[in-house]
Amino acid sequence: MKYVVCIPDGCADEPVDELGGKTPLEYANLPVLAGLAGRSTVGRAQTIPVGLPPGSDVGNMAIFGYDPSRYHTGRAPIEAAALGLDLTGRIAYRCNLVTVSAEGTMVDFAGGHPDSAHAAEVIRALDAALGGEVSFHPGVQYRHIMLAPLDWAEADCYPPHDLTGDPALMPTGPTAARLIELMDRSRDVLRRFDLAATQIWLWGQGPGPAMPRFVDRYGVRAGLCTEVDLVRGLGVMAGMDVVEVEGANAWFDTNYEGMRDAAIEGLASGADLWIVHIEASDEAGHAGDVGEKVKALENWDRRVLAGLTEALDEMGPWRMLLLPDHATPLRLKTHTSDAVPYLLADSRQTGPGGSYTESWVAGHTPVVAHELMATLLQQ
Ligand SMILES: [Zn+2]
Repeated sequence: MKYVVCIPDGCADEPVDELGGKTPLEYANLPVLAGLAGRSTVGRAQTIPVGLPPGSDVGNMAIFGYDPSRYHTGRAPIEAAALGLDLTGRIAYRCNLVTVSAEGTMVDFAGGHPDSAHAAEVIRALDAALGGEVSFHPGVQYRHIMLAPLDWAEADCYPPHDLTGDPALMPTGPTAARLIELMDRSRDVLRRFDLAATQIWLWGQGPGPAMPRFVDRYGVRAGLCTEVDLVRGLGVMAGMDVVEVEGANAWFDTNYEGMRDAAIEGLASGADLWIVHIEASDEAGHAGDVGEKVKALENWDRRVLAGLTEALDEMGPWRMLLLPDHATPLRLKTHTSDAVPYLLADSRQTGPGGSYTESWVAGHTPVVAHELMATLLQQ
């Protein structure tokens, strides 16, 4: 038996005027998905537990079969795992390169999107100047990691993307003074570089989560392809086989066929379960781009699901779970915590059937998303 989990990030939405009052899932031409839904179990799943933010880290952790209320310890530890950092005896902070104006306004939480190589030089310089008790580790573009002693956890920090155009509010709490000192001193280091970023911003801290390995928890060997550090970090923490796909760029023109083929090859060469996570539908939601959101769904159907189900049929019996980690409505351009449609298909039997749309599942009582993995695996 082969298992596949398909995650079109943020695909769930609301009715859109430009689409004649339909949602992108209702409007898009999705023959393969419609065929699957017609012979599947279709319902509604709560991917974001009450009290947690509707982030991709939370939603994907739930889809991976881990209760975020228990295992989510912050966003930075997951990104640290993606970078291969060991969090034993340390906590991780997200360390953005940001642009703060002389008047103290958060101008750009992404520090002008420096390229990763240039940013890594800055991070190395920061480590030389400010490292010791803490250490700085380069990540991607403006997104980096600072490791700190365990007793540095007690601080309320503001995510910099929530402050855009507003005063750059400093952390509060017992550790705040040490964080503020580092952020202040980082300005002298950043001044030596020709970058839009003016300083570091520390936030999103947490200890390494004690997630059991996927194979120990569920007894099957799992692989993952994704374009996103956070999701890659979840896979690393769960001990999954994480595969890089060339040309998978987390944007509208990503390599859909490459993601599909990575899943097929992974399953053909020994994995029991494969997770395919593609970001484009979420990016379209953030951009408020109706056309790209519809296109992202149609790309899933034509360039992933069609070939994937065909290949699975050739391998033998299979089961599939498909759902987004959260909704990213075009109208709001950001994530929501609303329950999302899910689909559970089995090649050996026909389920009650339905439509994979927000309206079709609206009357269903949401299931807890982190329990769907056991349902998929019939455990
Ligand atoms: Zn997401």
